[in-house]
Amino acid sequence: MDKTANFIGNTNCQHVNNHINSKLPNVGTTIFAIMSGLATEHNAVNLGQGFPDFPMNEELYELVAKAMKNGFNQYAPMPGWMPLREAIAEKVEFLYGKAPDPDKEITITPGGTYAIYSALTAILHPGDEVILFEPAYDSYIPNVEINGAKAIKLSLVYPDYHIDWVTVKNAITERTKAILINSPHNPTGSVLGEKDIAELRKIVSGTNIFIISDEVYEHLIFDNIPHQSILRHPDLFERSFVCFSFGKVYNCTGWKLGYSIAPALLTKEFRKVHQFNAFSCFTPSQVALATFLKKKDAYLSLSGLMQEKRDHFKMLMKQTRFDLQESYGSYFICGTYGKITDEADKDFAIRLTREFGVATIPVSAFYNEGKDDKVLRFCFSKKKETLEAAVEKLARV
Ligand code: PMP
Ligand code: GLN
Repeated sequence: MDKTANFIGNTNCQHVNNHINSKLPNVGTTIFAIMSGLATEHNAVNLGQGFPDFPMNEELYELVAKAMKNGFNQYAPMPGWMPLREAIAEKVEFLYGKAPDPDKEITITPGGTYAIYSALTAILHPGDEVILFEPAYDSYIPNVEINGAKAIKLSLVYPDYHIDWVTVKNAITERTKAILINSPHNPTGSVLGEKDIAELRKIVSGTNIFIISDEVYEHLIFDNIPHQSILRHPDLFERSFVCFSFGKVYNCTGWKLGYSIAPALLTKEFRKVHQFNAFSCFTPSQVALATFLKKKDAYLSLSGLMQEKRDHFKMLMKQTRFDLQESYGSYFICGTYGKITDEADKDFAIRLTREFGVATIPVSAFYNEGKDDKVLRFCFSKKKETLEAAVEKLARV
């Protein structure tokens, strides 16, 4: 048989399948795709995947349309549209006290997930270790492992999901390349405080350990708690990649636009990865955001708006047999369901979608080994009517 023809013509060929040798053999389809798919299939109210169901700011999409009409439709510069990087630098100075260099320290990326992946890829070599905390956003561990590195998974302490810094200290080895933090935290809504930053500082000082700080929910923090951005702390920033998402700030998750801020040397390596991957991002939205980012109210009002939604959802959920935990930030609030059933969280989440018409996310999906504390995550970044329709259904459970 002509081997060449076989390889080219038949992709189901066993040779080819064996040859793939998956880099992520233990990874299936992400829980967000699964639960959103089920929600559509069963016409359920979707409190699963984290996205708002209300419109984004009208002025912002008019600015994008204007940018397109004005001809900003070709490649943006590889590190991002400079006026946008300048606007980000101004915003960071206003919020956290020191402006990063827009030329050498800020890179616009197609989303926050991509920024985290690029940062990890820029620094990791096979055998390196990355300390991260479970429950963990689902891309972190695959992002580490695809680089041949090892994720050292430490548990946030249940039920308030704080970091046990003694465990972190004990987990440090000569192979520790980075610590990955996320505040406000997905899925639990916990936030890091000043004490956590002090502990982190003690652990990394005098080492070469990098910090990857996922701050996509920087403006979704409630109860007047200040966001402990790594950008407030120049001594920590000098070893950090700080990652953000415009999708979360401007209610446009489908735009997949974000950015990384890192010191010049780190950014140089980051851009080596980025330039041969996406190279650059959608130009019209960058042009629009360069103007819109200057409107402080648009991002400063977000925490108040989301806090109202959290409080409304908490109040509504009192009619149900779910027990909600605290949420101090993010789009999410978690809840236990011991009064209803002792089913595994994944089974229960599927049954809730199919039989009661509400999609959620089982928190065990955020643990590599599927640790099941029987907790579901609810996304409250929804219209009042959506939250009310969901709770009406949940009250029947
Ligand atoms: N980190 C966390 C913790 C998230 O929840 C998300 C997504 N919502 C991201 C990163 C990525 O955001 P983006 O959609 O911009 O890639
Ligand atoms: N970050 C969103 C969530 O946690 C979803 C992102 C995605 O679908 N990849 O729900």
